[in-house]
Amino acid sequence: MSRLVVISNRVSSPTKRAVQAGGLAVAMQAALSDHGGLWMGWSGKSSGAREPGKPVFREEGRVTYALTDLRRADIDEYYAGFANSVLWPLCHYRLDLTDYARKDMAGYFRVNRFFAQQLVPLLRPDDLVWIHDYHLIPMGSELRHMGAKNRLGFFLHIPWPPPDVFFALPVHETIVRSLTAYDLVGFQTQFDADNFASCLEREGIGRALEAGWFEAYGHRFQVGVFPIGIDTAGFAQLAQNAVRSGSVRKIEESFRDRDLIVGVDRLDYSKGLTHKIEAFDKFIAANPAFQGRATLLQITPKSRSEVLQYATMQRQVAEFAGRVNGQHGTPDWVPIRYVNRSIGQATLAGIYRVAQVGLVTPIRDGMNLVAKEYVAAQRSEDPGVLVLSRFAGAARELDGAILVNPYDIEAVANAIAQALSMSMEEGRQRWKQMMDHLLKHDISKWCRDFLEALR
Ligand code: UDP
Repeated sequence: MSRLVVISNRVSSPTKRAVQAGGLAVAMQAALSDHGGLWMGWSGKSSGAREPGKPVFREEGRVTYALTDLRRADIDEYYAGFANSVLWPLCHYRLDLTDYARKDMAGYFRVNRFFAQQLVPLLRPDDLVWIHDYHLIPMGSELRHMGAKNRLGFFLHIPWPPPDVFFALPVHETIVRSLTAYDLVGFQTQFDADNFASCLEREGIGRALEAGWFEAYGHRFQVGVFPIGIDTAGFAQLAQNAVRSGSVRKIEESFRDRDLIVGVDRLDYSKGLTHKIEAFDKFIAANPAFQGRATLLQITPKSRSEVLQYATMQRQVAEFAGRVNGQHGTPDWVPIRYVNRSIGQATLAGIYRVAQVGLVTPIRDGMNLVAKEYVAAQRSEDPGVLVLSRFAGAARELDGAILVNPYDIEAVANAIAQALSMSMEEGRQRWKQMMDHLLKHDISKWCRDFLEALR
């Protein structure tokens, strides 16, 4: 079996895993141990103005970790600049929030070349190479320029927008062309894959062959759909254990005789937080029976504070939540409990399990793992109801959810009321359908399917 080489912007090392324990990290770790492997990425550290040296290696069992520092300017231009201030908003259909600068664009390509230079001396001829996400799109073509003949796979974790959106990017053609250097390009949903294929067609790059196959510059490559899953069985077990823990019990106790609606979203404009709070506001105003009874627990860890828009948003969301609480709250009832910190997976799993409704309403999301985790955490005898944005990749799979358009504030308010008054029978049917799907399509299947296609 050939060795697996994984490259991602951030590497989840086993020592850190105890704290993070993301499904993706666990699945990658498992695939790397099966094949024997190398996982390379940014250490998260800056080398200041100094050129970073060779990566730092660490061996853990059959896996080698190679972590490389980046210069301060690299981090600003490649990471905060082009990746997070141009590609992220662009791929989430927010042209209005892109902040394009040629310097950042140049930094992005420079760092991708640097990663390729770091990797090439470590590469063996039959290594299978799997590159992850929007930070590293051109890395494959850099590797090809340096002579790599390996099977190269790329998976995009975020959405790929239609050509009219993507072509607003000044270097769109270079980015689209660089993806043709891979043997396999994977997307979360068929929509994303179709959007990418339309970009190829509109640019006149290569030609479509049989289903999912393309040819460009004398190279055949495949475009596939691989919706990412979670460790469904593991997460269900985690939730079951968590409700016995002191911390979850205390939380549950604090909601005694009340209806709990849970939202878990990084502080990010793609998550539709202000729309969600407005919808909850509408729901409370229109449903007096739930006044004093229903609470939205909104867990929202801060993220990417180095990007200006995120700092602005932090203030805005807190203001929205404060306004609703001021308007509807009473001395013994706070409508929205807004938590601005990160909660560990076990506690989170327990909270999902004791919440009657999971409210997941991004305005655009590649997949949304929170939606899948919420379903996996439910009690089979009395499961909670998922309200899910149709603009999350997960909506393509979780059709037992109440699907909503997050821009339609009243529809979301109605969906919350519908979820809270759903019969147990209907709730069970909807949940079972989703849970069966998630058990079959878990994170290990995702990993296996991608690697099989790449091989
Ligand atoms: N998460 C967490 N603690 C928190 C908030 C989120 O562990 O306080 C986890 C959550 O369980 C999920 C991930 O972060 O696994 C978020 O993934 P998702 O796809 O929903 O959104 P992303 O943040 O990747 O855009």
